[in-house]
Amino acid sequence: VEYLYLLATLLFVYGISGLTRVRTARRGNRIAGVGMLIAVVAVLLEAGAISWWVAVLGMAIGSVIGYVLAVRVPLTAMPEMVALLNGLGGAASTFVALAYIIVNGMHLGEGQALMDIEGLAQSITLPTTILIGTVTLTGSVVAYYKLAGRKLLHPLKGASRHYTNAAIGILIIVLSLWLVLWSSGALSLTTSSLLLALASGVLGVFLVLPIGGADMPVVVALLNSYSGIAAAASGFIINNPMLVVAGSLVGASGLILTNIMCKAMNRSLGNVLLGGIGDDAAAADAREYKHIKETTPEEVAMLFDGATSVIMVPGYGLAVAQAQHTLRELGELLEARGATVRYAIHPVAGRMPGHMNVLLAEADVSYDKLFEMDKINGDFKNTDVVVVVGANDVVNPAAREDPSSPIAGMPILDVDHAQTVVVIKRSLSPGYAGIRNPLFDKENCLMCFLDAKEALQGMVTEVKALG
Ligand code: NDP
Repeated sequence: VEYLYLLATLLFVYGISGLTRVRTARRGNRIAGVGMLIAVVAVLLEAGAISWWVAVLGMAIGSVIGYVLAVRVPLTAMPEMVALLNGLGGAASTFVALAYIIVNGMHLGEGQALMDIEGLAQSITLPTTILIGTVTLTGSVVAYYKLAGRKLLHPLKGASRHYTNAAIGILIIVLSLWLVLWSSGALSLTTSSLLLALASGVLGVFLVLPIGGADMPVVVALLNSYSGIAAAASGFIINNPMLVVAGSLVGASGLILTNIMCKAMNRSLGNVLLGGIGDDAAAADAREYKHIKETTPEEVAMLFDGATSVIMVPGYGLAVAQAQHTLRELGELLEARGATVRYAIHPVAGRMPGHMNVLLAEADVSYDKLFEMDKINGDFKNTDVVVVVGANDVVNPAAREDPSSPIAGMPILDVDHAQTVVVIKRSLSPGYAGIRNPLFDKENCLMCFLDAKEALQGMVTEVKALG
C-alpha cells in the first residue's frame, strides 16, 4: 500500500508538471487521473472496511456523472463547473471530519489530557477541516451562481459586513471550543459539529457574496486552494499521507494560480476580496459613444490587402461564437498572402485561465504563433491591422488612461497603438466588467458589428476574392 501511495504521489507531481505546457497538458491530466485511481485503490486496500462492491459502485456512479458533465458542459461554462467541483471537494473533507467525530469522539472532550499530542492534533485539525471544507462548499456555490451571471442580493454593505463576519468568526471559535473541550457523547458531538459546519457555511456565503462578478475567477482559484487545504487537513485526521500530499499540491497550486491572476489584473488579493468590480460598476450605455466608425468584412479585407503584419486578439466572444476554426482559416489565408500573423493572449481573456490557449489549440493554431501579453505588447505600434475578436475588457485602454476606472491599473493588450484596430462584436454592450470601452471611440478603431463567426467567414470569403 505504501508503494502504491508513493507511485500515486509521483504520478500527481509528474502530471501537474505536464500541465505547465499546452502541448503536454492533456497527457499530464490523464497521468494525474491514473495517480488518483491508484490512490483510491490503495486506500481501499488499506482500509478494507467497506465492501469492494460499494466502492466500485461509488466509482462507477462518479465516473458516469463526471463523463456526462465533461461531454455536455460547454467550454464557456467550465469556470462554473470548476467552482462546483471545488465545492464538492470541500464538502468531502467536511464529511470525513464529521464522520470521524461521530464515530471516534473527541479525545479532549472525553477527558483526556490537554497535552496528549494526538488529542491536540485532533483538536486543531477537526474544527479546521469543518471550517475550511464548509466555507469552500458554500463559497463555491455562490461563485457558481455569480459566474452563471445571476445577480445575487448582498444585504450587507460597508462596515456592517465586516462586523457580521467578525461576529460569525467569534461564533465559530466558541463552537470549536465547545466541540473540542466539552462535547462527549453522540448527541453533543453531532450537535456541536453540525452547528460549527452551519456557522462556517454562512461565513462562506457572506465572504463571497459581496465580491464582484469580474473577480470571480480569482475567488474560484482561491477556493480551489482552500479545497486542497481542507483535504490535507482531513488527511491528518484519518492518518492518510496520500490525502495530505494531494491536498497540499492542490492548496499550493491554487495559491500560485491566485497570485498569477491577481498580478494579471494588477490587484492585491485583499483588494479583490474586499472590492466589488463587476457588480456595482454602472453598466455602460451605448449612448456614451460619440465617434463610432462602422466597417464591413469587405472593407476589412481591403485593409488586409496592404497589411504585412496582423495580430489577432481573441476574447470571450470567440468562445461564444465557436469561431476559432474560422479565425485560424483567416490567419492562414493572410499568411499565404505574405503577412505575418500572430495571436495575442491576455491571461484573463475569456472566462477561465488558459481559455484562449485551449480554444486556439482546438483549432490547431500552432503554439509558436501564440504570444503572451508581456511578449507582444511592445509590438502593437509596429502592426498594420489588429483584429479584436469578441474581446472587450482585456483591450480597454481605460485601465491605462483613467485612474478612476474600476479596472485602473489592470495590464491590458495595447491594441490601440496599432495603425488600425478592427473590433468584431455584435453591439456596443460592455464586457464582463460592465464598463465603457473608450477604444471604440478612438480615431484608429473600426467596429464590425456582427457575430464573430459570421464576420470572420465574411472576411475569409472577401480575402479569397482578392485573389
Ligand atoms: P469580455 O467579457 O470583456 O467581452 C466579451 C465581448 O464579447 C462582449 O463585449 C460581447 O459583446 C462579445 N461577444 C459575445 N458573444 C459574441 C459573439 N457571438 N460574437 C462576437 N462577439 C461576441 O471578454 P474579454 O475576454 O475581453 O475579458 C474577459 C473578462 O472576463 C475580464 O473582465 C475578466 O476579468 C473576466 N473573467 C475572466 C476569467 C478568466 O479566468 N479568463 C474568468 C471569469 C471572468 P457583444 O455582446 O456586443 O457581442
